[in-house]
Amino acid sequence: MKNDIKVVIIGGGIGGAATALALQKKGIQAHLYEQASALTEIGAGIVLHSPAVDLLYKWEVGNVLEEVGIPIKTMEVYTEQGQFVSSLDLLTNGAQKELEATVYLDESDSTSKLKQRFIHRAHLLDMLLSPLSSEYIHLNHKCESIFEYEDYVEIHFTNGEIVQADAVIAANGIHSNTRKMFSEDEPIYSGLHAIRMVLTREATKHIAKENSTVTYQDAKTHALALITHVKDGTAIDTTFLTEDPSWILELEKEDILSQIGHFDEGFVRLFDEIEYPIKSRALYYRKPIDRWSTKRITLLGDAAHAMMPSLGQGANSAIQDAGAIANAFSNFNTVAEALQHYENERRPITTAIQNGSSDYKKFVFVK
Ligand SMILES: Cc1cc2nc3c(=O)[nH]c(=O)nc-3n(C[C@H](O)[C@H](O)[C@H](O)COP(=O)(O)OP(=O)(O)OC[C@H]3O[C@@H](n4cnc5c(N)ncnc54)[C@H](O)[C@@H]3O)c2cc1C
Repeated sequence: MKNDIKVVIIGGGIGGAATALALQKKGIQAHLYEQASALTEIGAGIVLHSPAVDLLYKWEVGNVLEEVGIPIKTMEVYTEQGQFVSSLDLLTNGAQKELEATVYLDESDSTSKLKQRFIHRAHLLDMLLSPLSSEYIHLNHKCESIFEYEDYVEIHFTNGEIVQADAVIAANGIHSNTRKMFSEDEPIYSGLHAIRMVLTREATKHIAKENSTVTYQDAKTHALALITHVKDGTAIDTTFLTEDPSWILELEKEDILSQIGHFDEGFVRLFDEIEYPIKSRALYYRKPIDRWSTKRITLLGDAAHAMMPSLGQGANSAIQDAGAIANAFSNFNTVAEALQHYENERRPITTAIQNGSSDYKKFVFVK
């Protein structure tokens, strides 16, 4: 396809930013429209797995990843009381062959062989956005509606602006209004809320481990805590069951202790370090749908396949969607062919991950 096609991306989260970068690397300058007045990511960190890491190197931001991403060597699991359950060594298990095949990392340092990296979400978003020119990023643009014609699409924003393009990629998250073109489904409440925070390394030195994720899990209440170093700090993700489906809850310390007060004292102590009230976010997900694309409009990232974080694949999948759609745009002659190919490649994979991750209770270890 010619590089001068006009592509509009709706949404400047990890999926939209990755797509803008992937297209730029193929010589296509996409315009990214975000409803918010700034591009930021809240919350703590995420694990980037090999396929997403490979793409980041391909998009020439691997050097930044090495600066801000922490290599993960082991994944340790404990009961909520701190009894050891299991430890997965990523250098000695099945992952090793794949890791040894990595050619771009320093052979003299064993941790440099590790592809899996834990990264603060804000650092990941910055990494994806920094190679993009500001003239292609449009803040304060909330997409209201999209009209599709034979030869073009017209995007209407709530600020009154109207933009025409050859193709629209809607990366506008779990609440995507574009998804309504394909399904009337609503997000499903999982029964869980998540608190995400970053503390200093000093405050977490008794519990966090170098190059390792540390997870505490309560098989009875499904409460879970994930503790991992990020650059200049330690990310702590805590999830707990509650019947309250509000998207955001404001919690006092006693609310939190009623959920995780029975956890290992070293973990509970972390909640002395923060200011109250603190917000928790409800975990919602969606079921897979049969179609994402028309001839000129498609969905990407959470807009297409919002999933539970139990397999740690939401952002990873959005990054891989970005790689797939950029390849499709450069390999096919028409927008319709490219979008269909992208959907055919990605939808079966993300459907399997969505189905697996919605069975999240089975990932809680039984004592
Ligand atoms: C607790 C938790 C832990 C997680 N852990 C992991 C993990 O370890 N690994 C992993 O891979 N994933 C993880 N995820 C999932 C991951 O965060 C998401 O899948 C990913 O961030 C989705 O990115 P996105 O760009 O598709 O959507 P979003 O990040 O939701 O971005 C959508 C953007 O679109 C904008 N927008 C929305 N509507 C409009 C509109 N109409 N017009 C213009 N802009 C609009 C929004 O403002 C937003 O900026 C986790 C999620 C949670 C909640």
